[in-house]
Amino acid sequence: MAPALKKRRCPECKKAYTYEDVEKHPTYPFCSPRCRLIDLGAWLTEKYAVTQNIDPEIAAQLAEGSPESGSPPEE
Ligand SMILES: [Zn+2]
Repeated sequence: MAPALKKRRCPECKKAYTYEDVEKHPTYPFCSPRCRLIDLGAWLTEKYAVTQNIDPEIAAQLAEGSPESGSPPEE
């Protein structure tokens, strides 16, 4: 019962990658923690720039938070 390998493309750097149980990967849907942080940082900047200044400590906590936040774009 070998799990099927799934091909994904990182929404940040567009690099293709393959993981077993990719949905459970800590950086899903990104290829790496770095890409996840880049994307999350961009999202936070966009989100809070128009609403309020966010405390850097809170931003850091959010950046380290659940990898399940956000939805991967469907293709
Ligand atoms: Zn990437």
